Amino acid sequence: MFWPAAADVPIGELGNEQLQKIANQLQAWTIKPAATEGYRTAEVTLGGVDTNALSSKTMECKQHPGLYFIGEVVDMTGHLGGFNFQWAWSSGHAAGLFA
Ligand SMILES: Cc1cc2nc3c(=O)[nH]c(=O)nc-3n(C[C@H](O)[C@H](O)[C@H](O)COP(=O)(O)OP(=O)(O)OC[C@H]3O[C@@H](n4cnc5c(N)ncnc54)[C@H](O)[C@@H]3O)c2cc1C
Repeated sequence: MFWPAAADVPIGELGNEQLQKIANQLQAWTIKPAATEGYRTAEVTLGGVDTNALSSKTMECKQHPGLYFIGEVVDMTGHLGGFNFQWAWSSGHAAGLFA
């Protein structure tokens, strides 16, 4: 417990100094994940084809014309909420226009 002395005190009865101290602690709160659930529940993973190796317009490999990489295989990660699907579709569409 962070504030044992204040645990049973109504918040309206705490002084400004104590409230500020509590606020400072709350604002500095950091969360450190202890672990991940591993590949069993992984939705995106690190790694993949370096984006610097590809044309951002066509997804064509700069060093190997005619070779294209799209979607999950590219080193791109979007926030959850559909951005990875969007990336897969959009990069595929872009490559399809030029391949
Ligand atoms: C559990 C889970 C939940 C997810 N939820 C979301 C979400 O809510 N929103 C979001 O935006 N993204 C989500 N994602 C990420 C999203 O699914 C991927 O980013 C996206 O599907 C990538 O599309 P892709 O076509 O590049 O690759 P994939 O969808 O992986 O397609 C690759 C295909 O290639 C096939 N294949 C592989 N090897 C070969 C081979 N040798 N020959 C022929 N075929 C082959 C595979 O069977 C597969 O069908 C989730 C991913 C997972 C795993």
